[in-house]
Amino acid sequence: MSQTFRTIALFTLGLVLTAGLIQTTLVQKENHFVRQRWNVVVLSTDTTRADHLPFYGYHRNTAPELTKLAQQGIVFENAIAAHANTAPSHASVFTGLWPNNHGITLNGKSLKKNTHTLGSILQKEGYETAAFISGGTLKKHTRLHHGFGTYEDNIRFSRAAADTANIAMRWLRSMATSKKPFFMFMHSFDPHQPYLPELDHLDHFRKPEIIEYTSFHNKHTHGTNAFDLNQHPIPEHVGKELIDRYDADIHQSDQALGRVVQALRQMNLLDRTIIVLMSDHGESHTERNWKFDHGAQPYEEQLHVPLVLRFPGAQLRQRVEPLVHHVDVTPTVLDALGIQTPVPMDGRSLIPLLTHHPTKADWNRIVYSHCRTEPVRMTNLGQSFKQRGLAYVLRTQTHKYIEFPKTDGTWFPQMFDLVVDPEEKTDISQIRTPLRNGLEQQLHQWRDQFSNPSTPDKPMTPEILEQLKALGYVH
Ligand SMILES: [Zn+2]
Repeated sequence: MSQTFRTIALFTLGLVLTAGLIQTTLVQKENHFVRQRWNVVVLSTDTTRADHLPFYGYHRNTAPELTKLAQQGIVFENAIAAHANTAPSHASVFTGLWPNNHGITLNGKSLKKNTHTLGSILQKEGYETAAFISGGTLKKHTRLHHGFGTYEDNIRFSRAAADTANIAMRWLRSMATSKKPFFMFMHSFDPHQPYLPELDHLDHFRKPEIIEYTSFHNKHTHGTNAFDLNQHPIPEHVGKELIDRYDADIHQSDQALGRVVQALRQMNLLDRTIIVLMSDHGESHTERNWKFDHGAQPYEEQLHVPLVLRFPGAQLRQRVEPLVHHVDVTPTVLDALGIQTPVPMDGRSLIPLLTHHPTKADWNRIVYSHCRTEPVRMTNLGQSFKQRGLAYVLRTQTHKYIEFPKTDGTWFPQMFDLVVDPEEKTDISQIRTPLRNGLEQQLHQWRDQFSNPSTPDKPMTPEILEQLKALGYVH
């Protein structure tokens, strides 16, 4: 063997060993997670509060199919919604941006032009993209169809998830022979009011006596001006019936979304597909002497949402405690696919959190949310709030600090210690501790970035107004 050949051979061996070592190190560090151009399926079950799902500790089996999915994936214990309303939260999921940055700060508004979405980014990367919508607040007036080759929103106000699933599964089957990867979004609106589950779902949760639902629906739920239970109490049996109906609606949503997962399995796509299961916001159930409702009360029952990621091969199965947020979904999916985000996003990839132990920074993270202000829905706070204003909410692992806009131009604060007061019953904002002042300052810094929002509140079109009225958001 010549000297030259020996040198080359040793050098090559060295490279191979070094590459092997690097590879091994990466694999160990990254917990065997492999980035590839997987298919992506996002399943959204609207209005589903985390604590009404068995895999978040609920005592009823409201979601047998989604529980199976959760057992094969990553369950985020503390996932926080961007907003207590549908369109702003979905837009944050699909853009990785705070609502003021994507433009949909309230239902009825539209995505800012030229905003990159998960759909538009994946479309540029050669993905087939399609969305199947079940609720009117996500129709094309939101511009959320941007980036979807198919955006099926042929509904007036809402559609049963089972029907939407049928259409989505037809599209999925058409993908079976496609050489391209795909991104599909399916939205179920079943848990949203009015609570009208099919009887076979309702029978799982209630006693046989049947209460005539329509007779009390308008009196006791969110299609009404009478929200304050001190003035308009809900009889106990009616409250119980409403929770039974809500749980049955979640079960109905579970069965429809579960059929989509089963279709993926039958098509042998489950191990080539990332599945994201999410909800856009929760629902209040009389916690604050307030009716069954969402949108204008930024408390845990409305902002703590389910979030599950299932990676191909059921990789990285675990439960994750540090705070995560809707804005993390798009950066995480792109990272998992090995695609760089084309623009900075407000969210972050969660892959490092999943492949390493949580860092101090993960535990100390601050995230933000909103709800809208609407005087008729907030009389229990005894303040004069702006109509269609935007409340700002800061959340740490242990605390929440809120500011609501008042008609006189000032802000009404609230603060809660979620460790000692998880039900947010005791407002501690009047006690001026260094922590309270620090959170206030942090919230103001965040809010001040948006002092000149570029999307002024334009008058809503008659069609959008009709949608919002039908869903009980406008009176
Ligand atoms: Zn919603």
